[in-house]
This record gives sequence, C-alpha cells and structure tokens, in this order.
Amino acid sequence: MKASELFFPTLREVPSEAEVVSHQLLLRAGFIRKTTAGVYTYLPLAYRVIKKIMNIVREEMDRAGGQEVLMPIIQPAELWKKSGRWDVYGEEMFRLQDRHNRDFALGPTHEEIITTLVNADAHSYRDLPLLIYQIQNKYRDEIRPRFGLMRGREFIMKDLYSFDLDDAGLDISYHKMYEAYNRIYERLHLQYRVVEADSGAIGGNESHEFMVLAENGEAEIVYCDTCDYAANVEKAVCTIDEQEAGDEAMLAIEKIHTPAQKTIQDIVDAFGIPSQRQVKTLMYLADGVLVAAVLRGDRELNEIKLKNALGCNQLFMADQESVMTGCGAGFGSLGPVGMKVKIYLDLEVSQMKNFACGANEDHYHYLNVNLGRDFVPEKIIDIRAAVVGDNCPLCPGHLQSVRGIEVGHIFKLGIKYSQALDAKYIDQNGQEKLMVMGCYGIGVSRTMAAAVEQNNDENGIIWPLPIAPFQVIVVPVNAKKEDQMNTARGLYEELIDNGIEAIIDDRDERAGVKFKDADLIGIPLRITVGPKALEQNQVEVKKRWEKDIELVAVENVISVVQTILGGRD
Ligand code: ATP
Ligand code: MG
Repeated sequence: MKASELFFPTLREVPSEAEVVSHQLLLRAGFIRKTTAGVYTYLPLAYRVIKKIMNIVREEMDRAGGQEVLMPIIQPAELWKKSGRWDVYGEEMFRLQDRHNRDFALGPTHEEIITTLVNADAHSYRDLPLLIYQIQNKYRDEIRPRFGLMRGREFIMKDLYSFDLDDAGLDISYHKMYEAYNRIYERLHLQYRVVEADSGAIGGNESHEFMVLAENGEAEIVYCDTCDYAANVEKAVCTIDEQEAGDEAMLAIEKIHTPAQKTIQDIVDAFGIPSQRQVKTLMYLADGVLVAAVLRGDRELNEIKLKNALGCNQLFMADQESVMTGCGAGFGSLGPVGMKVKIYLDLEVSQMKNFACGANEDHYHYLNVNLGRDFVPEKIIDIRAAVVGDNCPLCPGHLQSVRGIEVGHIFKLGIKYSQALDAKYIDQNGQEKLMVMGCYGIGVSRTMAAAVEQNNDENGIIWPLPIAPFQVIVVPVNAKKEDQMNTARGLYEELIDNGIEAIIDDRDERAGVKFKDADLIGIPLRITVGPKALEQNQVEVKKRWEKDIELVAVENVISVVQTILGGRD
C-alpha cells in the first residue's frame, strides 16, 4: 500500500469530544469517524485491525469446535415475548416496526434466535453438543454511549452459544471456551485478567469476564493479595468475620433533635459519632415498589447485588415524593426503626451494636439502635461494594484493585432459555429433556479500543504485532530523490514478496511529518531510507516500542525484519 493512496485522515488537534486515549488516538490517527453517538465507521486502517482480531477469534472458536453462522440482525418481537425479555430488556433495545406495524428489535444479543433455530432442527441426543457462533454487529441503545468504540450503540461482537445434553456437558463446553478465550487474548498480545463476574440481564449462574488491564478501564477488578481470587467489583463478595462482632451491651435507644443534620458527615460533625457507628438508608424503587437498603455509614451500595437479591427487573433510586409518601420523612432523616417498607440490611450491619440513624421523622435521629430489638429487616444480605483492604472471601488475604476493560464475557445459562423457548431433545431412553446452554461473547471493536488503551505513548498508538494494520512502514526521507525512492521501493516489494504487510510512505512530505504519522498510526517497524546511510548501502530500522535505531545493510533488511516480527512477545 502506498501512503499517498491510503485514506487515513489524521488530525493535528486532539478532538474535544474524546475523553480517553484510545478514542483520541483512533480519531487522530484516522482509524475511525463518528456517524452519530455511539455509531462509527471503521476506516481502512481500523478495518484491517478488526479483521485481524476477528481472524484470531475465528481460528480459536473453530479450534474449540465452534461452527460459524450468520444470524439476522432484525429479530421479531414474538421470540422476545416468548423468552419474556421483550419487556424486561428495557430501553437498551432498539425497536422498530415494519409496514404492517409488527414489532421488531435490532439484535442486542442472539439467545432467542439461536435457541429457536436449534430447537427446530436438533431433536436427538445425537445432535448435541453444538457450539454455534457468529461475528456480527450488535445494537444496544446504551444510556451513555462513550469512549468511542468502547461503549458503542452499534458494535462488533463474536457471540457463541453452546447446547449440551446436561450440566456435565455444559461444564465441558464452558471449559473449552474458557481455554479458547485465554488463547485469544494471549495471541492478541494483550495483558489481561480473568475475573468472576455478575451474570446481569442475560441470566444464569457461573460467569467469567476477560479484562484487558488499563488505567482508564470502566471496570474495577478486585483481586486477592494472597490467593487467585479475582472478581469484578460488581460481583466481589463481601464477607464478615464472626470474630469481629463485638460483645458490646445494648444501650437504651435515644431520640435526638437534629434540625440541621442530614448527612452522615453532619452527624459526625455535630455529635462526634464516626461514620462506622452510623447506618445509611437508601431508598429504591424495585419494579415500582419502594424498598430500603441499609448499610454502614461509610459504605457504598452495590446496586447489582441489591438487584440480584431482590430479583427485580428495574431498580431506580426513589424520588423525594415516593420517599415522603412511603416513609413519612425526607432523605436525611431515614432509618430502619419504624421503617414502613421492606428493609434489606447489609450483612455487615448485622454485626453493629448501638448505632445511629435517622428516625423516619424529619429533624430527628436515633442513637443506640440495635438489630432485633429495634427493627427486623426483610433480609440480611451482602449488598455493599467491596473496597481495597476487604477480607478475601476465600483465604485470609486482603483485596487489592486494578482497572480493566471488559472485552469478553462467558456465562453458564443452564436451562433459562431452553425452558422459555422449549428447546428439548430426546435422550437415549426416549425421554424429552431440556438442552443446557451457555453463551460466550467477545467485543471485537471494544478489543481494538482496549488494545490502544493499553499500548500507546505520547506520540501515538503502538500496535501489538499480531493486530497491527501493517507490520512495516518504509519511509524514504525525500521521495523526490531517485536513489532513496528506488531503494525504498525495492525493499517494499521484497517485504510484500515475503508475505510481510508493508506500506511505503511515498508522499512528498517532510521527513518529520512522515515520522510523526508513522508513530501516530502505530506501525510496529519503520525502515527509513536516508541519504547518509544509503551511501554505505544501509537503512535505519526502528521498533515503534523502542527509542534506538539500528543501521542494517539493505540486503539484510528482510531477515532482520523477519526475526523481529517472529520474535517479539
Ligand atoms: P457491559 O457491562 O460493558 O455493558 P455487557 O455485560 O452488557 O457489557 P455482554 O452482553 O456480555 O456485555 O457482551 C459481550 C461483550 O460485548 C462484552 O464483554 C463487551 O466486550 C462487548 N460489549 C458489550 N456492550 C458493548 C458496547 N456497548 N460497545 C462495545 N462493546 C460492547
Ligand atoms: Mg451492557
């Protein structure tokens, strides 16, 4: 490819709408352009990267026994109504109608389609297991499309679905995918970590996420400093240490006037009661029903845990009016004593004695409140967000945290969809049984962004070799000089003949401009043909990830390049 003919519209300035490095660099280096919020065009350089990621994913899926198909993007509402998700999927689903006013969705995921398909055409135990996948655009009307390709509304996903005879079969399929995913991220040369995950709206029980480590990752991962435990903070289990429960005697409950105290900090300031000796009461509407979540004063709620514990579809923070009507007091004076709605109490609070909280009466608080004597919760559950320093749920170690980008997610679905969509087979004894399913996603376009997020410097992108859009760029310092151009062209042809993806910067630009562009777009190797070295029949070879330049005799360039390309980890 000649740089003079390549469509890579680079930008000098950092686009103002781009907050994270990957978004900035992909725009600046001419890889992507926005069409509308969360919807992008992949320009030639980006699409080369995308195709390489897809190929690695495809090879590993095939190797694990997957079979590639292409399912429709347009999905009829009936299938989603059958699975019960037409209503629960909510506003994230792009919906449309045809000319007959029939409802459709643009596929956010494909459990409904694939399960219906397999059910129609696989009937016997002999037809299973099946591992079926596709690589395709997905559509999700994300509430906050942001960070460029990281959270798009149209994005490329690989989704595989497994169908097995029983749980033991599912374990095998899940394990195959777990291994395949590890191979994929190793082959992509990305630093990643596998963590335990919440299974979210898709449902199911066991689930792991594959996280590319990056400072600005949206996800927080906690991991144990002693054992192998690692989890998305959304999922991380918080335990209590039985021995930490004090044997403090219960004191008499006391009501105090707090005319100006609304927050936990206000109570700390006015009465010197530390936040660890207070509880906070957060009000939520769970499928429209008001509930109270009660936590230690210095803790944050993990909404995902609360949602899972409630088993509800929609969970929103309650508004002032619902709270006033339901509790008889406003935010800032709420507490578990005399609470009129169901209380979900964080596990940790069950160990607290003589704590302070709102009195469900404006301008009043209680002191010396105790579980059991003063209030009875609906449930005592783990609903707080894990934090650094927490006890590891598996060993005596403690939790640390890093940030990551979720690029892959695997779930054991069990019979959730086969039951709803009636996907059965006839077993060896002639009996009907439900198929046991798993689903396994990889965000292909998000993986490209994650690769940039992890591999860049002040000059631009540093593509990992296996997914670089081109492997080598040949730069004649002065394209008008015939000797330089001849040598450059000769090397370029030779690289191509040797199966190396090369680009030649034949543009009539200053050398500085060409070097800047080569760095910005992140080509791993640069071969510079300049006047001085050429006198000795030499050229410069520079690795994008190192500062040093190596002088190499023209006739040795191919073998040097081959060694570097073959040898870098
Ligand atoms: P998230 O928690 O980030 O919203 P998810 O749990 O909704 O992700 P899955 O339904 O498991 O995601 O989708 C599989 C993969 O698709 C994810 O691991 C991620 O890499 C990718 N993905 C999901 N949503 C988006 C999006 N809006 N833009 C780009 N990639 C996405
Ligand atoms: Mg999502």
